[in-house]
Formats: sequence, structure tokens, C-alpha cells
Amino acid sequence: MPTALVTGAAGFIGSNLVESLLDRGYDVRGIDNLETGRARNVERLQSEADYTFREGDIRDADVMAEITAGADYVFHQAAVPSVPRSVEDPVTTTDANCTGTATVIDAARNADVDTVVVASSSSVYGSTEQLPKVETMDSRPESPYALSKYYTENLTLQASDFYDIDTVALRYFNIFGPHQDPEGEYAAVIPKFIDLMLDGERPVIYGDGEQSRDFTFVENVIQANILAAEGDVSGEMFNAACGGRVTINELVETLNNLLGTDIEPEYDDPRPGDVRHSHADISKARELLGYEPTVDFSEGLERTISFYQDE
Ligand code: NAD
Repeated sequence: MPTALVTGAAGFIGSNLVESLLDRGYDVRGIDNLETGRARNVERLQSEADYTFREGDIRDADVMAEITAGADYVFHQAAVPSVPRSVEDPVTTTDANCTGTATVIDAARNADVDTVVVASSSSVYGSTEQLPKVETMDSRPESPYALSKYYTENLTLQASDFYDIDTVALRYFNIFGPHQDPEGEYAAVIPKFIDLMLDGERPVIYGDGEQSRDFTFVENVIQANILAAEGDVSGEMFNAACGGRVTINELVETLNNLLGTDIEPEYDDPRPGDVRHSHADISKARELLGYEPTVDFSEGLERTISFYQDE
């Protein structure tokens, strides 16, 4: 079976990906420096016979060379992921995401891996009049984080011109699901709101709540990653999303319905760097990768709520 390296393996998407690759019979290696990842995401998988986790930094070229040697695929998920955090602290975001990606790519080409799949972000599009967002549109990164992801995907795609490796970039649109960190200032909206509302607390919406997102259950992007690695497409970027659009007000309403609560959100000022609407056209991924989302927003939300209730 193939050997895969997952960077950011203690993170939300990385740890879900490790689990799915192990289920498919892969030998899996993971690396993470626990900057934003959760120790419990390492602990829950550590006893798997075909899994080796290493605590380390993707910017460390020696560590990356060691852990990448012999890998067939690299799934590069490690990053400092938040838009507001990048506005507060652009240096950490840029260093981890840009220098980190360059180090990952360099290790991959020296180790002769087949394919590198990298996590990019819908934030690279920025706020656009045109919806849904399609891969041919101009990029307008509006935050240090979005810029770092623009760099990540372009550096990766270029690498297939220079070196003998295949590369694919996936622009994720608001991914949610089990094992996402609900705590802290920079937590993503779905786990944060579920966590608060399960405790009967009011969630805070930044802005009027009419901003929208293409919320995508994590299983769908795992499918996109595996199709991208195992397929024969290279040098291409794809939207990885559901192709729908839900406002933050609708999210709270749906959570109230599913939880049987009647909690009113609080409203605060909009956050700098946040885009207004995010909605993906997923035709390119459908056509070239054979991607088809299998878990829609409602089912994903139910599964996520039940995970946090158990946790
Ligand atoms: P996460 O914070 O749960 O995972 C990122 C992981 O990277 C963390 O475990 C963190 O400790 C690790 N990391 C950070 N810097 C590192 C370094 N220098 N060396 C080693 N490990 C490092 O976030 P996530 O939501 O799982 O995001 C995974 C990827 O998907 C990221 O690249 C993120 O930018 C991208 N993405 C996520 C979303 C989303 O909605 N969750 C949307 C768009 C893009």
C-alpha cells in the first residue's frame, strides 16, 4: 500500500485525513508542532500499527527530509489557519505558511514523491461580486492569511513545472466536522457556536449575520484529497466545497432547530479581513477529479453536534 505523509496531523483536517488513509490501508506518517493542533488528535490515533507521528516543525528541513523519505504522497495541511490571527500577528502566519510550504515542497522533490496535495483556502478569492467563485477568477487576498495561502498554492503548482512531482492545490471552503477545536479566540464558527449553544450561551456574530459561507463537511474534502493524490491531474487548483451557501444567521437558526433551543445571537462589529460571501462552483473538481460531495450541510451539522455532545 502507498505511504502518505500528512503535515498538520494533530489538526482538525489533518487528523481526520490520517484516520481515513489508515482505513484505506495506507501506511501513514504525521508531523505537527502542536501550534494550533490538539494533543488528543494525536493520542486517539497513536496506537494504530500503520501510523507514526512525529512532533516537529515543517520549517525544519532536516526533520522534513527524514520524514518525507520513501513517501508516495504528501498531504500538506499544516498552517497557522486563522484570518483574524494573521491580522494580529502576520509574521507567525507568514513564516509557518510560506517558509513552511517551501520546506515541505523542497523535501518532497528531494524525496521523489509522486504527488503533493496542498490545502489552500477560499479566502484567496477575497470578496467578489461574482458568485459562485470559480477557479478562473482573479485572486484578491485580503488578509495576511489569504496572501500566505496564495503563496502556498502557487509555489506548489509551480513545483510541478520545475521538478518531477505532481502537485494539486485544493481551495477549502469553511470545513467543519468532528475533532475541530471549539475553543480559543480564533476558533472556527461552527464548533465554537455548537460548544456555546450546548451550554445555553449566546454566540456572537460579527456583522449583521447575512454574510454567507459554503460550509463543507470534512469527509468531502478528504475525498477530494484522496482523488487528487491517486488521480493523474497535476499543476491544477480546485475548489473543495459543497457548492451551497448558508448565512451565519441561518446557521444559528439551524443549530437552534437541531439542538431544540431558542438562543438569540449577540451582534458585534464585523472583523477586518473577513470576506462577505463565500460560495464555490465545484464543476472543475467534479469533471477532472470525479469529486462529488457525499455529506450535505444538514447531515454534517447533525453528525458534528452529536460528536460534541459525546465529547
Ligand atoms: P488546524 O489548526 O486544526 O490544523 C493545522 C495544524 O497545523 C495544527 O495542528 C498546527 O499545530 C499545525 N502547524 C501549524 N504550524 C506548523 C508548523 N510550523 N509545523 C508543524 N505543524 C504546524 O486547522 P485545520 O482547520 O485543520 O486546517 C488545515 C489546513 O486547511 C490549513 O492549511 C488551513 O489553512 C486549511 N484550511 C482550513 C479551512 C477550514 O475551514 N478549516 C479552510 C480553508 C483552508
